[in-house]
This record gives sequence, structure tokens and C-alpha cells, in this order.
Amino acid sequence: MDGHIYADNAATSRLDKCAFDAMLPWLSGEYGNASQPYSFARKPKKALAEARETIAKCINAQPDEIIFTSGGTESDNWVIKESALADLERRAMITSSFEHHAVLHSCMAIERLEYPVAYVSPTMEGVVTAEALKTLITDSTRLVSVMFANNELGSIQPIKELCQVAHAHGAYFHTDAVQAVGHIDIDVRDLEIDFLSSSAHKFNGPKGIGFLYVRKGINLSPYADGGAQEFGKRAGTENIASIVGMATALKANCDAIRENDVHLRMLERELIDRLNAAGILFTRNGGSNTLPGLMSLSFPGKSGEVILHRLDLMGISISTGSACDSKNTEISHVLKAIKLDEELALGTVRISLGKNNTQEEVAQIANALIKVIK
Ligand code: PLP
Repeated sequence: MDGHIYADNAATSRLDKCAFDAMLPWLSGEYGNASQPYSFARKPKKALAEARETIAKCINAQPDEIIFTSGGTESDNWVIKESALADLERRAMITSSFEHHAVLHSCMAIERLEYPVAYVSPTMEGVVTAEALKTLITDSTRLVSVMFANNELGSIQPIKELCQVAHAHGAYFHTDAVQAVGHIDIDVRDLEIDFLSSSAHKFNGPKGIGFLYVRKGINLSPYADGGAQEFGKRAGTENIASIVGMATALKANCDAIRENDVHLRMLERELIDRLNAAGILFTRNGGSNTLPGLMSLSFPGKSGEVILHRLDLMGISISTGSACDSKNTEISHVLKAIKLDEELALGTVRISLGKNNTQEEVAQIANALIKVIK
């Protein structure tokens, strides 16, 4: 769209040109099935192995710890449901009350099968603390699942400490890192993560592809039975084009992680300074340690819905909550979980800037907000 300003990068992001270009051969001439033994399958097989290696390096994993999936939702469902069913004796699970619905609804599904799930509450800053987790964890907890960074607030979680609490009780630790991968440094070894979910379209890769990191030595039962693809864990002919696109986009983002961080922090400051200079009353949610570019802003006495639609008419895309909640005018479960005052919650918008946004665009977003709010 001409003149359109996109500021909803936490919902999805623009496909990088380098990823698009890298995908093309696999969508045209190189259409071979990577599982076949003949020479026409050699190139896709090699591309698959290289993509797995590239992705593994980006999070300090081993290639055989990366399993390709259709994205964040599938990865989250897999870990939660399979872990619950894996052990009839030890089956309790803990998650947080402000997870994405891919995790929350998976937990509700296992609760319907009478698997016990406990929900840890985040602080008002949007952080799940190790202390809070300790109050719920027992030696029958099998899995703890806490997101790496919240998709509405951007708040980054103390993953290493949470992992250590889980492991001290013999539980596995899963993190939905859909918002974090490609945006902040992640070292699965150092953090001691057991399972990590990721999705390519959140880091300028294609939609409908993602991966699940499974630490070596953990026996997670298959998501889909069939062929021997993905180490026999997720059967189905590999989507080489999307996998290559994902690896290319992730490498590009990880190589520029510092540069993007500096750019996005500068853009955040620009927006905040402009709102302050215009005397706009607002608060920022999510504490002091947030994802670069993701801002949850509350305007007291205003309606987030109205702000979103007025900005939309001016050609600017922002969000009131998570993408999945965009049809829902109720206060999001995330804002409820951090106990945000109702008036502030109703006046909350999420502006998620990406590496492609410019200072000029941010000035236009600020001007639009000022116009709508004043
Ligand atoms: N988890 C989080 C935190 C998300 O933000 C999203 C997408 O909005 C998902 C999971 C779902 O990912 P996907 O779109 O790849 O299914």
C-alpha cells in the first residue's frame, strides 16, 4: 500500500528480500523431494541440512536438535500435549497466565483430560519471577512452560532462573520464544532450555514455517507419524523453500542483532519523546527489559480500539493486543494478568516497530497519535 506505515511487527513481519531470493529456486526448478535417493534430490537434501545447521548456530544448538514445524502454534501444541501424555505418573504442568493462546489453549486441552495445570501470575511489570514459580512447583511437575518474551508487552523473562527452578524439581523447561528469536540473543545451552518454539514470520521469514528445539537426550514422541522426515518425529515431505527462507532470514537478523537493537531503541525514544513533548498523558507497560521496538502504551480515558481505527484511516497499522485478539474488544488476558487498571487497559495499544521502520515513519505515527488523543 502506497504511503502505508506498518507498525505491527509483533503480529507478523515483512519477508526479507534475501529470504525471498533464497526461496525461489526451491519453488521452481529445484522441486525434488529431499527424501529420495537419486541425484535430483541431492540439492534439496543439502539445502535442508545447511538450513538446519544455520538455524542451530543462531541459538547455539546442534543441528539434530532442530525440528522443522509449521510455526509457533504447532511447536507449542506439540511440546505441551506430548509431554502431558508421556508420563502417566508425573504429569503436572505449570505455565503462566499471560502466555499466547497457542500455549494456554493447549493447556486447557490437557486439563480437559484431567491433567493438572497450575498458572503462575506475572508481576505488574510483566515478569514471571523464579520466586513465584517456586510457590507452585512440586516434584510431580513434569513440564514448566514460560514464554521468552510476552507478545503484548515485550517483557523479557528471566529464563535461566526459571529453567533452574524447573530442573531443581526434575521438570523440563519449555519456552515459547516466538517473539524473541532473531530479535535478542538466545543461547539455549547457556540458558539450559529443554524445548524452544519459534516461528519464521516473526523474524522476516515466510509464514507457515517454524521450528522446535528439543535438547539432545530428551525423547519427545512424534507429532505426526508417517515417513522418516525430521528424525521420525514429524513426518511429511519437507517444505524446502520455506525452510531455506527461514534460515536465511534468521541469519540476516542474528548477524544484525546489535545494529537492529540500536536502531529500534532510537525509534522507541523518538516516539516517546514526541508524545511527551506534546504533553500527551500515557504510561508504558512491560517494565524496563523489553524487546526492541515493542511498545505497549496506555492512554488513560481513551479507547485503544478507537485509536487503532483512527490510525488505520490515516494509513498506519498498529494493534490493541495480540494479533489473535484483534476481533475481541474485551480486555486482553495479558493486561488482566498484569492487573492493569481497567481504564488504562481499555486505552492500551501495541506499537511494534521493526528494523524496516524509519525515523520519519515514527514521527508520522507520533503525529497521528497526538492528533487522535488530544
Ligand atoms: N506464540 C507467540 C508468543 C506468538 O506471538 C505467536 C503469534 O502471534 C504464536 C505463538 C503463534 O505463532 P504462529 O503464528 O507461528 O503459529
